[in-house]
Amino acid sequence: MGKRYPVQIHARLPRLMRIIFLGPPGAGKGTQAKLLAKKYTIPQISTGDILREAIRQGTLLGLEAKKFMDKGELVPDTVIIGIIRQRIQEQDCKNGFIFDGFPRTIPQAEALRKMLVLLNLSLDAVLSIVVKDEILIKRISGRRTCPVCNAVYHILHNPPRMPGLCDRDHTPLIQRNDEKEETVRNRLVVYKKQTQPLIDYYKKQGLLKEVDGEQTIEAIYSQIAGFLA
Ligand code: ADP
Ligand code: ADP
Repeated sequence: MGKRYPVQIHARLPRLMRIIFLGPPGAGKGTQAKLLAKKYTIPQISTGDILREAIRQGTLLGLEAKKFMDKGELVPDTVIIGIIRQRIQEQDCKNGFIFDGFPRTIPQAEALRKMLVLLNLSLDAVLSIVVKDEILIKRISGRRTCPVCNAVYHILHNPPRMPGLCDRDHTPLIQRNDEKEETVRNRLVVYKKQTQPLIDYYKKQGLLKEVDGEQTIEAIYSQIAGFLA
């Protein structure tokens, strides 16, 4: 009888998971990362959210990052690597983390590999969300974000309960600064040039799982849950 105990206790512990979400802007990385973070009780680490928060607070990092973000360019690797090095050593990452929007270049991926070796940690999976360009543009143009809690909505596919207001804190939703059509097109070009090579990089390491990102949010989530089961 007593033998059942450890099993029940174990079932309540958060599952240790280190995951990367890879994919073009608008693919649904943030949406899925938030759902998984809740399921596994581990943090979603979005470099985009960290940078936007720095911009809101007017820090030096924010001032520097804004110049690149407004043009749809990537923020320099050294800045991003510094942010991640600090972040993954915080207490809430001890049971794992979900990267959303990091790494975005080969040098970032290499820096991460070295950091994990030093910490004696390894990655469980790299989930690459695949969506065609026309759909990405529609998703980005309909995206609305809460500037306070970073919740993400879509005016058609994932609308808030009250139009224009965040479900959680009722803050008016905004469109991000880098969501103008011209900037979005540049972000897609930058993705193909600088981030897409990571697909092969992680394929070679046997970590890559391709996710069909053109399904509903729920169907994508079940596909991912299947990969991680
Ligand atoms: P999306 O959700 O549309 O993919 P993000 O919020 O992840 O966009 O990123 C917004 C912007 O922040 C990027 O266009 C880039 O300027 C900057 N950024 C975010 N993460 C990184 C990163 N890992 N490396 C370089 N720049 C980044
Ligand atoms: P990313 O983090 O990759 O840039 P987001 O998670 O912010 O992508 O999603 C981009 C937009 O598309 C958001 O408005 C989101 O609500 C919406 N979205 C996300 N997944 C889907 C989906 N499977 N079908 C339709 N819309 C989606």
